[in-house]
Amino acid sequence: MARVDLKQVKKVYPGGVEAVKCADLEIADKEFVVLVGPSGCGKSTTLRMVAGLEEISSGEISIGGQVVNDVPPKDRDIAMVFQNYALYPHMTVYKNMAFGLMLRKYPKAEIDKRVRDAAEILGITELLERRPKALSGGQRQRVAVGRAIVRQPKVFLFDEPLSNLDAKLRVQMRAEISKLHQRLQSTMIYVTHDQIEAMTMGDRIVVMLDGEIQQVAPPLELYHRPVNKFVASFIGSPPMNLLEGDLVAGEGTLCFRDRSGTLNLEVPANRRAGLDTHVGKPVIIGIRPEDLSGNTAQQVQAGHGFQAVVEVVEPMGSEINIYLSVGGKAVTARLKADSTPEENKPYVLDVNMANAHFFDVKTGLAIR
Ligand code: ADP
Repeated sequence: MARVDLKQVKKVYPGGVEAVKCADLEIADKEFVVLVGPSGCGKSTTLRMVAGLEEISSGEISIGGQVVNDVPPKDRDIAMVFQNYALYPHMTVYKNMAFGLMLRKYPKAEIDKRVRDAAEILGITELLERRPKALSGGQRQRVAVGRAIVRQPKVFLFDEPLSNLDAKLRVQMRAEISKLHQRLQSTMIYVTHDQIEAMTMGDRIVVMLDGEIQQVAPPLELYHRPVNKFVASFIGSPPMNLLEGDLVAGEGTLCFRDRSGTLNLEVPANRRAGLDTHVGKPVIIGIRPEDLSGNTAQQVQAGHGFQAVVEVVEPMGSEINIYLSVGGKAVTARLKADSTPEENKPYVLDVNMANAHFFDVKTGLAIR
C-alpha cells in the first residue's frame, strides 16, 4: 500500500485549457480521499495524471515515495475503475477479471485464487461464467471493481464509478465500496461530482473549482468550517442560504441586516470572532437550511427571526423543506416533520445564529 503525493501539479491541455492549476495534495497510506467539484473542475484530469493516463505539464507526482512522472501507467501499481466499467464484452466475468493478470504472466493457480477471492468479496461468484451483456448495471460495476481488486494494487483510482447506476443502487454500492476500503485497507482516490457521495465515503474530501483545490478536509469539517462561499454552497443539500447585507454595530450588539430590511439578526458573542474588521461593511451571511426552524408561536423574535412568504412546500416524510422569498432572494428552510407551513402564506422562522457563517463580499473567503 502507499501514499500519494502531488507537488505543484499542473495540467495545460493542448489548446491552452488550464485543467489543473497548481495542485498540492498529500494522500496518506490507506486513506480514502474523494475529489469532488462541479463538472469541468479538473477532478478526472487529476486522477488520470495519478494513473499516468495524462502527462503532467509541470510538478511532481509520487506513489509510495517514488516519483512516477515518467513511469508508464502499467508500472505504477495502480488499478482504475472507470465510469463506463470498460469490460471486454466477448469475455466471461472470470476472464475479464483474470485478463490483466494473464497479461502479466501470473501463474494460473494464483490467478484463479485471486479471481475467486475477489468474486467472493463482491458476491459475484455465481456470475463468473457470464458475459457482461448478461449482467445488470450493478453487477457490471462489481466486475469492474473485481478486476481492480485482483491486481492487489498499491492505489485504487475510481472515476465516477457509480454515475451510471440508478439512485437506489448507487446508495448500496456507496456502502459496498466503503466496506471494501475497510476490508482491503488500501489507498483509494475517488472522483465524483456528487457531494453526498463525497460526504458519505471520504476520510477526507478535496473540493475543486476551475482547476484549483479549494479545501481539503474531513467531511464534517468541510460542512462546519467551509473556507469560502463556494465550498459552503457546494457541500450540503439543500445548499446553504447565502444573503448579502451589512454588519451593523449597536450598543454592545452586532447585527446582520439584509438590504430589503426583512432580516435583522443579532450575531451572538461566540460568532463575533473576526467580524470586527467588517463592521459597517457589506458581508454575506451563510445559514444552513436546518438552522432555520418554524417559530412555534409564529411570532417574530426581534433579532433572532423573521417572517417571509412560503413559495413551495416539499414534505420529505422525515422533514419538510420550504422555499421562501426574502427581499426577492430565495431562502430554503428544513423544518421538522410536524411543522405546518402553507404555500403562499406568511411563515415565521427562528434563526440559529450560533451556526451562522460570514463571508467577505469581494473575496468570498470565510470571515473568522
Ligand atoms: P471534471 O472531471 O472535473 O469534470 P476534467 O478534468 O474532465 O473535469 O476537465 C477539466 C477541464 O479540462 C475542462 O475544462 C475540460 O473541458 C478540459 N479537458 C478535459 N480533457 C481535455 C482534453 N483531452 N483536451 C482538452 N481539454 C480537456
